[in-house]
Amino acid sequence: MFHTSYIEISKSALKANISFINDVIGENCELISVVKGNAYGHGLNYYVPLAYECGLRSFAVFSAFEARKVLDTQLDYKRLIIMGDLGDEDIPWAIENNIEFFVFEMDRLKAATEAAKRLKIKAKVHIEIETGLNRTGFSSKELKRVVDVINVNQNDLLIEGVCSHLGGAENISNYLRIKKQISSFNRQIKWLNKKEVPFIKLHLACSAAIINYPKTILDMARVGIMQYGFWPSKEVKMAYLAKNKKVDDPLKRVISWKSKVMSVKQVSVGEFIGYGNVAMAETDMKVVTVPVGYAHGFSRSLSNQGRVLIAGLRLNIIGMVNMNMIIVDATNLPDVKKGDEVVLIGNQGEQSISVSSFSDLSDQLNYELLTRLPHDIPRIITK
Ligand SMILES: *Cc1c(COP(=O)(O)O)cnc(C)c1O
Repeated sequence: MFHTSYIEISKSALKANISFINDVIGENCELISVVKGNAYGHGLNYYVPLAYECGLRSFAVFSAFEARKVLDTQLDYKRLIIMGDLGDEDIPWAIENNIEFFVFEMDRLKAATEAAKRLKIKAKVHIEIETGLNRTGFSSKELKRVVDVINVNQNDLLIEGVCSHLGGAENISNYLRIKKQISSFNRQIKWLNKKEVPFIKLHLACSAAIINYPKTILDMARVGIMQYGFWPSKEVKMAYLAKNKKVDDPLKRVISWKSKVMSVKQVSVGEFIGYGNVAMAETDMKVVTVPVGYAHGFSRSLSNQGRVLIAGLRLNIIGMVNMNMIIVDATNLPDVKKGDEVVLIGNQGEQSISVSSFSDLSDQLNYELLTRLPHDIPRIITK
């Protein structure tokens, strides 16, 4: 096996999530599958072909580096968008490979125009406008110059989209800010329309927005976390369930993370367990080691409080999370042995460990925990 743990990716869960999201956004909105951050830790080169099998055709990544990985899948997708980092020197490569990209600064717009002219291929760009996130995006002042550049270079630029991104749609405390962003977006689109800028599609929504601000569901929606079966926040989940008078979570966790028992030992009452004095055996105990630690993305803040599943029981992690292993209290498992399955995230028997129970304890976001899963843990597609 070589590896100390493995990750399972469930096709049926993914199918269910995609179908749920498509129901929410409706058939007139194109679902853009956001696969940045190594497909939120699921493993981009496994996830994208699976998502393709499940019907997704449009993908968005953060960087040129990630775009190259999607390109390498050689799938016949419809659209691949770089939303963030793309060096000017890589723009010709992007254009030649039919990769679309966000443009949020003049340099990039000019580099794209020049490269397109030279290659005699139109650059497919998405103009990102500032609406209040204050991260990337043209201010309304800059937008005037952008329009001039676009109008002069219509043979070299194809404005596939005009877009913006919301600053915290998953949290009701940002309600006013988000409302202002949406108005700002609409105002600027009206202005662009007046200027007769030949753009094709509008997009603004992320996962939280398609639930909390349905008016942001435009020609496309860029959805990340929900495809993987996670809500952007508990609040969004509660809002959805309440509004639709539902009790069952329509989203299914796609990922499971599993390892095995590496060794078993007895510890006498009064002995310390692991580094330092964090954990002491209060009775004679049985402990097992699991070969997963913070080097594998298992947060150190789960020390002495995380849980794992072995033989269908929820068991406590004792002591510190080490670089490469954790120690688990298996006193209640008389028959536990080397090689037994250990579930770090997922189901076993009647029990389940969710990413959120995991992230609540470690004070990490779902997003952070997932994307920290190392690239080299093998991913296995299950049904
Ligand atoms: C990450 C990201 C998204 C997707 O966000 P989710 O909350 O995961 O749906 C959409 N748009 C942009 C620009 C992003 O960076």
